[in-house]
Amino acid sequence: MTDLDRAYELDRRHVFKPWVAQAKLDPMVISGSEGSFVWDGQGRRLLDFTSQLVYTNLGHQHPRVVEAIRRQAETLCTAAPTHATLARSEAARLIASHTPGDLDRILFTTAGADANEHAIRMARLHTGRPKVLSRYRSYHGGTQLAVNVTGEPRRWPNDTASQGTVHFFGPFLYRSHFHATTEAEECERALQHLREVIEMEGPSTIAAVILEPIPGTSGIMVPPEGYLRGVRELCDRHGMLLIADEVMAGFGRSGRWFSIEHGGDVVPDLLTFAKGVTSGYVPLGGVAISDAVAATFADRPYPGGLTYSGHTLACAAAVATIETMEDEDVVGQADRLGAEVIGPGLAELASRHEWVGEVRGAGAFWALELVRDRETREPLAPYGGTSPEMAALTQGCVSRGLLPFVNFNRLHVVPPLTISAEEARSGISILDEALDEARNAAT
Ligand code: PLP
Repeated sequence: MTDLDRAYELDRRHVFKPWVAQAKLDPMVISGSEGSFVWDGQGRRLLDFTSQLVYTNLGHQHPRVVEAIRRQAETLCTAAPTHATLARSEAARLIASHTPGDLDRILFTTAGADANEHAIRMARLHTGRPKVLSRYRSYHGGTQLAVNVTGEPRRWPNDTASQGTVHFFGPFLYRSHFHATTEAEECERALQHLREVIEMEGPSTIAAVILEPIPGTSGIMVPPEGYLRGVRELCDRHGMLLIADEVMAGFGRSGRWFSIEHGGDVVPDLLTFAKGVTSGYVPLGGVAISDAVAATFADRPYPGGLTYSGHTLACAAAVATIETMEDEDVVGQADRLGAEVIGPGLAELASRHEWVGEVRGAGAFWALELVRDRETREPLAPYGGTSPEMAALTQGCVSRGLLPFVNFNRLHVVPPLTISAEEARSGISILDEALDEARNAAT
């Protein structure tokens, strides 16, 4: 038996996978990776249009990050959160240098869900209020509170209606909940809706609004001009905190350091991050905290913590990731990639494929909304489910050497920010062929 066969067999015997029924799984073995590519168990090279779970922002095995982890392991593998280490202090300084406004203090966590849990805990303690508002069509993590603020089907089996969460609709013109026909109308009506939800729930009971400035897994909807500013104003008016969940969209993904920058100069009170902060090489998450919220815990202990808060290996990976992003203008590169290569390439696909109802995104963060009929906009797979057409499309991509990110009726194009224009174009031409093949098979 080869090592790769052994990896597969032991995985099926002993590994319990998140979110899925276990009986019929057939995982792809990954034997190696480099740059924009991974290799599967048959030695086949696949262009990674997923960045795994949208986190390898610098691509796979970036030598600078690998070397930083190796060097840190040789000198100091770990130290408890109570101590100061150079890796943790530098990581915090670098993150704070890119977060907006006065978000200059960092609570490190191990992932995105626990970052959101802590941000909400801080908001509740800071305001003395219980409720938290979040959007439908959002994902905030798999732990109990984070999955309850989540606004998609993964919440349903975990929702005991006991976590003090209330959901509202955000702007999404293509599937407008407000019968809007322009972005400006959608923005105005989405803000009016939020205003009414706040009024009906009672502003004095609401600690915070948490939102992904650009929702990720739920569909990559870039907000209309003025929406994030409007949410900020509502929060200010009612003494509620604004929590920006930048776990997926942060660290350059949308062509900005943080996706909230697409909303102008809006500064949240708390900003959560994970994934791209280390390019996913070592798990790390965190909350960037404003001066006002930090002051709440100046003389009063913050009631929360983690054994691995600011783990040394993870922080060394964060330092190398951020320094590489700065030195190589990776954020500018992602912006140009979106504007010059991915955006136009996908728009061209949309002009030829009836199934593509809408293309939207920014930077290296794009979604194709696939529909059976452009008039009715009936999704190519139901909300929360899949369909033979989506399965055929996925298979068509993989058989041609492309790893696609598929969610319900959407195909997301979320490659490493460092992908070359040529690699990105070759991935888009595989999508083109796979769309043709799946469409022909369906008719
Ligand atoms: N928030 C957002 C926007 C995410 O996309 C995710 C994960 O995909 C999370 C939070 C949860 O992060 P983690 O899986 O690291 O706990």
